[in-house]
Amino acid sequence: MINRLVVFGATGDLNARYLLPALTALRAAGHLDDRFQLTGVGRVDWTDEEFRRWAAEQLERHDRSSPAEARKAITESARYLRADATDVADVASAVVGDGPVAAYLALPPAVFPGTVAALRDAGLTKGSRIVLEKPFGEDLDSAVALNRLLAEVVPEQAVFRVDHFLAMTTVQNVLGSRLANRVLEPIWNSAHIADVEIVWDESLALEGRAGYYDGAGALKDMVQNHLLQVLCLVAMEPPFSLSERDLRDRKIDVLRSVRPLTDEDVVRHTRRGRYLAGRIGDRDVPAYADEQGVDPQRRTETFAEVELRLDSWRWSGTTFRLRTGKALGRDRKEVAVRFRPVPHLPFGLGEEAEPNVLRFGLEPENMALALTGVGSGAHTLAPLTLTAQPPPPDLPAYGRLLLDVLHGNAALSIRGDEAEEAWRVLAPVMSAWSRNLVPLAEYPAGSDGPAAARDS
Ligand code: NDP
Repeated sequence: MINRLVVFGATGDLNARYLLPALTALRAAGHLDDRFQLTGVGRVDWTDEEFRRWAAEQLERHDRSSPAEARKAITESARYLRADATDVADVASAVVGDGPVAAYLALPPAVFPGTVAALRDAGLTKGSRIVLEKPFGEDLDSAVALNRLLAEVVPEQAVFRVDHFLAMTTVQNVLGSRLANRVLEPIWNSAHIADVEIVWDESLALEGRAGYYDGAGALKDMVQNHLLQVLCLVAMEPPFSLSERDLRDRKIDVLRSVRPLTDEDVVRHTRRGRYLAGRIGDRDVPAYADEQGVDPQRRTETFAEVELRLDSWRWSGTTFRLRTGKALGRDRKEVAVRFRPVPHLPFGLGEEAEPNVLRFGLEPENMALALTGVGSGAHTLAPLTLTAQPPPPDLPAYGRLLLDVLHGNAALSIRGDEAEEAWRVLAPVMSAWSRNLVPLAEYPAGSDGPAAARDS
């Protein structure tokens, strides 16, 4: 296990909201001891003491329920280095020391290549690991270039491309439910499943993140990584084991099987939108184009929907709809697997059964199966829902991922070829949208999204 974690970009939001609480959870659960050392790297001129105070404040803000002892142990183990993450001498002073390090790039994606090159030139101790946050590049070409650069520094098994959706309990339960039960897998195919929706609709608007989001947009922020990864778990063939190789080989098979989209497909099967001013609950939300830091000329989308087909024996004939939007009227974050209607209903004329839908709630995390049973009257039918609440996870998603990084288990990390394949899947959409073949529809904040938004 590696005991030294160097976080580049340690003064940022990711470290404050996710990494520090995750480390605290690992400490509280006994996974980290006094040998563990955190080095925060940032451009602010802070002393160790000032960084520790800031870290303690962030934990107080984002992680008040964790044991005070664990929070104290993490903040007191921390040291701080003022450094430019793209400067070789600075980077060398951050990673120097006994034994290998895990270098976590909690940096804007545009800085990744400069930092990876600096890590290469600084010389990482053998056995060190590099952790990157999505998006992995900005398109296929930059993803390929980044992968080449990473390969010059550490072997592929030492590269951890983090997608925290993969460590969420219900996302893991997509596989758990399919593969640990007799009842699902035999009907997990296009003969029985009509369509699958993978949805991350949120009522949150931009929340001050223009610096990152305006350059990315909904497609690159959510669909290209998180939602495609969930698609992989829904559609993959059962792996022989959950080892790094077996799991990731089966996931990339799914990405490879996505039918390439033509311009006409993109026009017919994708939608994009941007929110206008509106009201969500008791909040007035300004139009996206008027948010601070947004360049309206960029025409960044805050809503993206893409329908995909998989060319395989299992999935030919099933539609996979991936959708995400900001500033919508209600949160809906789930995978909804909709089954085909039964072939015959013997209950008399006029009765119709709603199709069965299996839902994996992503936030909040839960599961529900919509069935039909008999109603109160003779020969009538009524909806029945079975619900399940998975046990609370022992660690937060980022805690699991960090533990895997420290132990060197890359099963839940995105392999380089997967990252590239995910860009290939969406390259036609990016291209057609950049040529305005699909209009940027507008929707009021607080609505259901652009008109014709399909709903469940
Ligand atoms: P922030 O902008 O909040 O933080 C980025 C940090 O990087 C800042 O502390 C910034 O310092 C620092 N930085 C930038 N350039 C350099 C440099 N040359 N040398 C040293 N430090 C530098 O971004 P986030 O924390 O939100 O995101 C970080 C990464 O995590 C991104 O890749 C993002 O896509 C990803 N991510 C973030 C999530 C989130 O919820 N925040 C969720 C999933 C992924 P300074 O203030 O001086 O500019």
